[in-house]
Parts: sequence; structure tokens; C-alpha cells
Amino acid sequence: MSDRRCKLKIEVIHYPHPTLRHVSKPLKRVDSELREMIAQMFDLMYEHEGVGLAANQVDLPYRFFVANPTGDPREKNSEHVFINPILRSGKGKAEGEEGCLSIPGVLGPVIRNERVKVEAYGLTGEPFVGELDGLFARIVQHETDHLDGKLFIDRLAPTQLAEVKDLLEEFQVDFQSKRDCGEMPADDQIAARISELENLRT
Ligand code: ZN
Repeated sequence: MSDRRCKLKIEVIHYPHPTLRHVSKPLKRVDSELREMIAQMFDLMYEHEGVGLAANQVDLPYRFFVANPTGDPREKNSEHVFINPILRSGKGKAEGEEGCLSIPGVLGPVIRNERVKVEAYGLTGEPFVGELDGLFARIVQHETDHLDGKLFIDRLAPTQLAEVKDLLEEFQVDFQSKRDCGEMPADDQIAARISELENLRT
């Protein structure tokens, strides 16, 4: 008998996958398995040329996300992990164009706080506070939305949403055809897996 360990295989899920609507509960601990998930999420984020990736975008019901505002894998100092993030005291308003690795090809203007204060835990489980502005503040708000089951398209003005409606419908058709081919589990199976994983860590 070989003592083979299952290696976690993660990939980015697309709208309208139900896990993108999952509201995640805080994690209870940071351990080596979580750090391995985080390392894989950075790899995946760079592979898809993103600047942020939340756990439920890789079908995991955990309250954390990774970010690198430079999007450059060589810029290790710009890599950040936010575990159990809480946004405090948003200030100012700024509009900026957003996209999402879970809805590739769809872009739209979103109004966010210009500056935010965020409290979270890092890779070694230590608490930290970040006072952010500009792109980094936008990323942190976009990714925290993911952990609350929200997508940037929920924040588009009706006229902007109308502009991307056809593209969103293509994602819905694609999702349904995966279901029809048996490549995508049913909603109750997805929910059962999410709840099982959640019970392990929250
Ligand atoms: Zn996103």
C-alpha cells in the first residue's frame, strides 16, 4: 500500500457557479494545509493575470483572499494574504473599471470607497491593520465582496449592467451546458461539499 496524499487541485470557477454566492464564515486556524491552498491560489491568480483571488472563486468556502496589486509574480513584497478580513471606515468615493477572474471578459465601472481600513490575519496567523487607497483599496473591497457572496456586476448601474447582459447570458448558457453534459454537479451536491469543507475549518 502506498502512502499517497491527495493533493488539492484548485481551479477558478465562473459565474454563475453557486459557490460564488456563498457567504463564508471566519476561519478558526491557519495551518500548513491552508498555506498550501494560499500558495496555489497565488499561482492560479498569476496564471490568469489577476491582481486578487478569493477562496470561493476556487470553490472553497473559506474567508480569505490573496492579492498582489502589481500582478507581477516577481514582486513578492507586494503579495498579501487577508484572512478573516473586516473592512472599517471607508472614506471618499471613486469610480474605476473592474473585471473579475470569475467573469472573464466582462468589465464595468464600479463606485467604491477611495480609502479603506482593513483588519485581517496574515499567513502566520498574526493580526494586522492596513490603511489602503487607490487600486489596493479597490481590490480589497472587490475581494471582500466575494467572501460575502457578492460580485462586481451586482454593483453596476442598471445601464451598465444592460451593456454586459449578453455576455452574462453566454456564461449562463455555458454553465447550463456543463450541467447537461454531467460536467457540473447539481446545486445540492455543490452545497453538500461546501458544507462538509466548511465544517472542517470554521
Ligand atoms: Zn472578482
